[in-house]
Amino acid sequence: FFAVLTFFISCKNTSAQKENLSEIDQKVADLLAKMTLEEKVGQMNQYNGFWNVTGPAPEGGNAEKKYEDLRKGYVGSMLNVRGVENVRAVQKIVVEESRLGIPLIIGSDVIHGYKTLAPIPLAEAASWDLEAIKTSSGVAAAEAAATGVNWTFAPNVDIGRDARWGRVMEGAGEDPYLGAKIATARVTGFQGDDLSAVNTIAACAKHFAAYGFSESGKEYNTVDIGTSTLYNMVLPPFKAASDAGVKTFMNSFNELNGIPATADKFLQRDILKGKWGFEGFVISDWASIGELVVWGHAADLKDAAKKAVTAGSDMDMEANAYIDHLVQLVKGGEIDESLIDDAVSRILKVKYELGLFDDPYKYCDAEREKTVIGSKAHNDAVLDMAKKSIVLLKNENNLLPLKKEGQKIGLIGALANDKNSPLGSWRIGSDDNTAVSVLEGMQAYKGNKLTYAKGADVALGDTQFINEVIINKTDKSGFSDALKVAKNADVVVMVLGEHGFQTGEGRSRTDLQLPGVQQELLEAVYKVNPNIVLVLNNGRPLAISWAAENIPTIVEAWHLGTQTGNAVAQVLYGDYNPSGKLPMSFPRNVGQVPIYYNYKNTGRPDPYPDNAQMVFWSHFTDVEKTPLFPFGHGLSYTEFAYSNLKVDDSSNASNPKINVSVNVTNTGKVDGKEVVQLYIRDLVGSVTRPVKELKGFELISLKAGESKTINFTLDKETLGFYNNNGEFIIEQGDFKVFVGGSSNTSLESDFKLN
Ligand code: BGC
Repeated sequence: FFAVLTFFISCKNTSAQKENLSEIDQKVADLLAKMTLEEKVGQMNQYNGFWNVTGPAPEGGNAEKKYEDLRKGYVGSMLNVRGVENVRAVQKIVVEESRLGIPLIIGSDVIHGYKTLAPIPLAEAASWDLEAIKTSSGVAAAEAAATGVNWTFAPNVDIGRDARWGRVMEGAGEDPYLGAKIATARVTGFQGDDLSAVNTIAACAKHFAAYGFSESGKEYNTVDIGTSTLYNMVLPPFKAASDAGVKTFMNSFNELNGIPATADKFLQRDILKGKWGFEGFVISDWASIGELVVWGHAADLKDAAKKAVTAGSDMDMEANAYIDHLVQLVKGGEIDESLIDDAVSRILKVKYELGLFDDPYKYCDAEREKTVIGSKAHNDAVLDMAKKSIVLLKNENNLLPLKKEGQKIGLIGALANDKNSPLGSWRIGSDDNTAVSVLEGMQAYKGNKLTYAKGADVALGDTQFINEVIINKTDKSGFSDALKVAKNADVVVMVLGEHGFQTGEGRSRTDLQLPGVQQELLEAVYKVNPNIVLVLNNGRPLAISWAAENIPTIVEAWHLGTQTGNAVAQVLYGDYNPSGKLPMSFPRNVGQVPIYYNYKNTGRPDPYPDNAQMVFWSHFTDVEKTPLFPFGHGLSYTEFAYSNLKVDDSSNASNPKINVSVNVTNTGKVDGKEVVQLYIRDLVGSVTRPVKELKGFELISLKAGESKTINFTLDKETLGFYNNNGEFIIEQGDFKVFVGGSSNTSLESDFKLN
């Protein structure tokens, strides 16, 4: 009887499920039913492309085997196939020659634009302007889509606390709340409202997970973090991306608790596909399935394939592990075919959603490629984003904004006359030397006398993508010209910092000072003319303690992409009033790293409670405890005053709604924008809580003299946290609330959850 009943129930379930299947799910199921095991495994295989697939097969790179697999339908995706003509060529092979003609999904690292480059993502994060970031991602998507790409390996949502790690330039900085908001903005920007539109592409949240916590910031290193950090710091931006409907995830090179992420079932199946209900697919990082062997986690490539697929990695990027071993693993009974079916269904679903089955060539329109790429509208958008990304770190002596007439401006620094470096790391479709340099941007302002001297090179020789940047550590032959220029100037603008390829993948540093002889140049110029505006070009927080102490004016201009020079000049001349705020703390020296605002109090903080004297407490004996510039810091050409912070007295912990309001007044003489920031501290927690946590922000515009009341509501989501079982909880007790224009907040109040 029970057997019959179970059978009856299972039949009912199946038919009910069938009825509930969406049209796309149904199409996926129908197609899957027609596929051989080999064809299914083929969908889980991604190959790297060739520079020119329309020409003869290039040497090396296993091109002939790849062509053969394309013909057989044993390739689901390719990356790095560039340009409409090339994409059309590979697509044509699978569509016309393979048995089922399943189109490829074409991936690429469109990290901050395709040809028209926006600022690097860390810089964009400094805007705290979610709409602008969304627009910028939309521009990147539109250009990439116009070249045949329909999937970007972005956004990188790794939390970055360690400035030594080169890939902090790809993320949104150190804070999980800001990181989650930006993750959502980027995903929705890339994917748009309609994924099947020709100007939107599938996004990919990466690197899952905890890659940003590589020990000592050393690239690809082991990660050793606690559960609480994983749940509360690392995962929130990933969850936000998943909630925003991101179509894919990429796992990461690092291990976590001894399990390389690519083989981590807990991350990929239990959390991502389980708890979060993610319906898209997971791609491995480049050859990371093969690296399971090198880690010493898999005996050989076959074992690696088994471990990765079991853990929930759906597509293999360039390791040949799946294509060479999955069929055998299924046939030998070592893995169940249902694992393959699940992975393939997820991949096919995204292809249907992109509309590739309706028209596999829809992204291959040579006419669109010509008109969309590098359009005026795109250049305007990245210029707007670049201006919004600039952070005014210090402005004493009223050097900025520069007067527009009658001044002698000395411009110094190799980076000021560089059209390549400001493009930043990760460029896919842009040509070298296509940025507007700071020199060119400044030349557009003709009322002043501008004189330029290089001073010293930052890098020597060829600094193309992939090659290591060789830093100039000795050549000071240009110093004397620079000093002449400085002596004759009313104001000296110095553009110093990192070469664009000193950050990004594989580019960790143990020294965070200005590279090469630039610090010496800065000090030499300062001796002859201290009226210096220091403009920084860099992809990570720098330890510029000497400059912070001595140089009156410092502008953080990152690597701002194609429109760098125009953005910098407009800010320096006051045609744009800066409003950026740091998304990462700047350290005083490298020994402070990792340094972040949302640290824990410890049992022996400084100052110790009640001013009691401690013999030993948590500090360094040789450097101040604070960062050089804190998270959230950034000035304007006007000033903002905060007053009248009001907080609801108490609320019920089961369904809290705490209303917070504050008045902000523009007390200066010019209009400006301010990022009003709200932080909390949960004073007592079953798991200790950070001393401050960002839980709200609003970017506001205020005319000179204008005041506004800004309202925030704290709710369950913002007041709770994850316990060490990964459960989201909220606890009764006392809280503090802080409001201000940086994480060094100006106003403070408290409330209680009963
Ligand atoms: C990086 C990824 C990137 C992939 C493909 C890897 O080395 O870690 O972020 O998407 O290469 O280029």
